Amino acid sequence: MPDHPQQNACWSCKGPAGEGLFCAACQALQPPNLQQNYFQMLDHPPTFKVDRTRLETSYQALQQQLHPDRFATRTARERRFSMEHVTRLNEGYATLREPLARAGYLLQLHGRASGDEASGAAPTDPMFLMETMELREALEAIDPAQPDADEKIDAMRQDMERRVEEEEQGMANAFEAHNNTQETTHLEKVAQHMDRLRYHNRFLEEVERLEEKLFV
Ligand code: ZN
Repeated sequence: MPDHPQQNACWSCKGPAGEGLFCAACQALQPPNLQQNYFQMLDHPPTFKVDRTRLETSYQALQQQLHPDRFATRTARERRFSMEHVTRLNEGYATLREPLARAGYLLQLHGRASGDEASGAAPTDPMFLMETMELREALEAIDPAQPDADEKIDAMRQDMERRVEEEEQGMANAFEAHNNTQETTHLEKVAQHMDRLRYHNRFLEEVERLEEKLFV
């Protein structure tokens, strides 16, 4: 691709550009380095547990340096590179901020399916299915006309939020166990937690929809 020359050879002055966003010699903006993963891009170790402040700080700093407004009077190529950078930056930040997306991305970095494809849609653990079916029935049994409906829904939401936290902790533990042992069974555990978390998230959305209906 002529627009994306060898990384390190500056497209503008043809000299060595160095590792930075801008050519070390002529300061021209370089294209995004697609060899870099999102963690490298945002200067954070590739772990499930993230330092949100550190991510946010890196994101804001890069966002400022790369913002298209800064390139309004520069070459067309730099304007395009700045858009490509910002698009990739936003994708990367959104991925690493959100636990499910972050877990899926880490699985990919470990050479696994992202978890979307890994184990299919629904969790298959019979105990889990039984329990969630009961929760669903309990939710459907709430009569919005009753005076204690909001209390019941609130309790249900808190219960769900606790389950969400449990699954996130489960993912963190499984990733840590994988780091310590390199055994891939731990990554399969991650995918199972992801399935369950997705399920809880959907349920939580339903609870919130019901809450909204109740309070209009
Ligand atoms: Zn240059």
